[in-house]
Amino acid sequence: MKLSKLSIVVPCYNEESNIEELFNELKKVIESLTCVCEVIFVDDGSKDNTYKEIEKKSHKYDYVHGVSLSRNFGHQIALLAGLEKASGDVIITLDGDLQHPPQVIPELIEKYNKGFDIVNTRRIDDESTSFLKKKTSTLFYILINKLSDIKVEPFGADFRLMSRETVDAFLSIKEQDRFTRGLVSWIGYNQGVVEYKASPRFSGKSSYTVKKMFQLAINGITSMSSKPLRISLYLGLMFFITGLIYAVFIIYNYFAGINVEGWTSILITILILGGIQLLISSIIGEYVSRIFNETKSRPLYLVKKQTSKKIT
Ligand code: UDP
Ligand code: MG
Repeated sequence: MKLSKLSIVVPCYNEESNIEELFNELKKVIESLTCVCEVIFVDDGSKDNTYKEIEKKSHKYDYVHGVSLSRNFGHQIALLAGLEKASGDVIITLDGDLQHPPQVIPELIEKYNKGFDIVNTRRIDDESTSFLKKKTSTLFYILINKLSDIKVEPFGADFRLMSRETVDAFLSIKEQDRFTRGLVSWIGYNQGVVEYKASPRFSGKSSYTVKKMFQLAINGITSMSSKPLRISLYLGLMFFITGLIYAVFIIYNYFAGINVEGWTSILITILILGGIQLLISSIIGEYVSRIFNETKSRPLYLVKKQTSKKIT
């Protein structure tokens, strides 16, 4: 498992003010390593000058490459694009906003040398992480691990090392909706974890709004498990049985001559049943829309331009 070439993949969306600083940090680490390195920046359809910044670096340093996607495809797809372009025996992915400290890279490599095929990372929160973000991510992991069939490392991030073999395995998964962390857990192999301290974003704004996190959670759950459908079945059964018991009660009352006015109970029943039906049909709808997405089998992303020659 001799490491001869390392690829570092960085998805970037509106990170013009971070590229310089991030690259300086990366450069320090790369210079301390003995293997050949390449850095692949994926510009995910940024609206600012991110790609110009990447080009500048790529002109100056031979080992820096840039890929510009034709529009914003989202973090997960940008990551995938980078992985497809990377040619190293070992590939490390990290964010473009310096929240994933490049200083941890040697530690990841050390773990790889100990025989791990995939080295995930776990974030230890510092005070700079907002209360809301902490709470929402805790909830996210509880939900995803309860509802899906795979284990996702809590407080993990898309900051990880993967060997060539596991990247190829990952790339052989042809799904359209890709929840990277779930898929990486799904492929198996020998996986290890390294802890790191999260730093605040160097500059710029997080593009993960609460809405996007919610989408990622739904995506993560529905792409890794059909448990919500099973839960719908249980819910439906529960309400059916309760309904039956209630029906017996009403019929008894009818024969016993007890006349109930009934307005409140009817309204409550209608509201609850209506709500449950809507909920269940939207869960089914969520899966139908996934089938729809898969059947279209469009390319996952389009590349508008890239800096070099050498990457495929
Ligand atoms: N990113 C991307 N495409 C997007 C959104 C984000 O490539 O549509 C990149 C972004 O530049 C960063 C990483 O994904 O490198 C994580 O995004 P962000 O920092 O906004 O998320 P957070 O750290 O808040 O989870
Ligand atoms: Mg970030």
